Amino acid sequence: MKPKIVVLHDLKFPVLDELKKYANVVELKKDYPLQGEELIKSAVDADGIICLLTDKFTKEVIENLQSVKIISTVSAGYDHIDLEEATKKGIYVFNAADPLTISVAEFAFALMLSVARRVVEGDKLIREGNWKSGWSLTFMLGRELKGKTLGIVGLGKIGKEIAKRAKCFGMNVIYYSRTRKLDFEEEYKVTFKDFQSVLSESDFLILSVSLTPETKNMIGKRELSLMKKDAFLINISRGAVVDEEALIEALKNKVIAGAALDVFQKEPVNRSNVLVSFENVVLTPHIASATVEARKGMAELAVKNMLQALQGVVNEDCLVNREVLKIRKLNKII
Ligand code: NAP
Repeated sequence: MKPKIVVLHDLKFPVLDELKKYANVVELKKDYPLQGEELIKSAVDADGIICLLTDKFTKEVIENLQSVKIISTVSAGYDHIDLEEATKKGIYVFNAADPLTISVAEFAFALMLSVARRVVEGDKLIREGNWKSGWSLTFMLGRELKGKTLGIVGLGKIGKEIAKRAKCFGMNVIYYSRTRKLDFEEEYKVTFKDFQSVLSESDFLILSVSLTPETKNMIGKRELSLMKKDAFLINISRGAVVDEEALIEALKNKVIAGAALDVFQKEPVNRSNVLVSFENVVLTPHIASATVEARKGMAELAVKNMLQALQGVVNEDCLVNREVLKIRKLNKII
């Protein structure tokens, strides 16, 4: 008998054909996040589940998923899945992070250029009918990237792609990360500095660290005060890496020149968030990975992880609960 794979949502791209050859694929096409009883009922007799970031695999849900052996999420993040419980039950959990790396790195430049060249401010000026002065030598002056120092905090997959692109813009790249990347430094001529030096020397500071207990509120009042007065902060990592209250205070007191943010402490952001009141702040609704290429690639990878797992092959790059390897061997079931 073919294994049963439940796909909770419409994956929007034609990526299931190969899997359908080997498994009984049940596409639920739910257009809202699943949780609790409904999620349990939807997948209780499945061998594998393909889900999204918004589905909630709590301890209780996982306890009740009797036959599930594999959960493959179409997302980089996996904090919607209780990994401890999944591991205890011998469930292999896979994510799909790599396909969004380029999209997020490119988006960091969209943000950096937008805030440095006042793109959003200019757009707003025209739409609100306030472009009265025509062209003048000093109208809406911004900053070039060329020759500026870009500080990258967190030189991981995305940070490295940002660094490569920054070199093409003629920027001087410095970085701080948990571990030094000597080969990368050598190949791309980037320089490792301690955290404090990266803060104080950067004209543009991009945050691309992972969110962990150590990086929560990594940028607070003290760190902002170490930055240059004409520097810009760009956050494409996770909202909680920045102490938002401290950032608001810094912007009010002109401690830094501006910010561009794709992620926030509390999402979605509404107009009660003081950040919306600053002209020198560019805000985007967590869309750094929102490209056709990234989303299609993520769906493809999530399905591939599932198919391989059914064949008894573990894609270790995407396995997010490695301890499960000690709990249960993944048997070939197709
Ligand atoms: P990654 O490859 O895991 O890179 C994360 C980097 O953070 C690693 O290089 C790691 O350092 C560094 N790091 C972790 N803890 C640190 C600490 N205490 N101090 C200094 N550096 C630390 O992840 P990624 O794929 O590049 O993603 C980077 C960030 O972007 C993550 O926060 C992710 O959630 C976020 N993201 C956002 C979007 C979006 O839509 N805005 C989309 C995708 C990802 P070492 O390698 O040096 O150990």
